[in-house]
Amino acid sequence: MEEAKKSYKCKYCGEAFEKPLMLAWHVRSKHKSVKKREKKREKKAAATVMGAEQLNKTVEAIGILKGLQVSPNLSEGEKKLLGDVSKTIEELLASVRKGK
Ligand SMILES: [Zn+2]
Repeated sequence: MEEAKKSYKCKYCGEAFEKPLMLAWHVRSKHKSVKKREKKREKKAAATVMGAEQLNKTVEAIGILKGLQVSPNLSEGEKKLLGDVSKTIEELLASVRKGK
């Protein structure tokens, strides 16, 4: 009559428990750290993809700024401002790349 007995199966390893509390305890002690690690890894992967995309956009932005900088319609002050802004972004980009 084993089948008639209600059991709670662990979704990670398939081990069956008679009481939900026992299952919860089992999951907490055996699998929770694994689950946490997996989540962390997923998060990290997503951050890397996002970072690469942002990096591309930043490189693009620097290109646009540098293009604007040589525009003949700009005053010296505006050119200097654009130069400073693109320099700041380049420095940021360099520090982000170094951090990888
Ligand atoms: Zn388990």
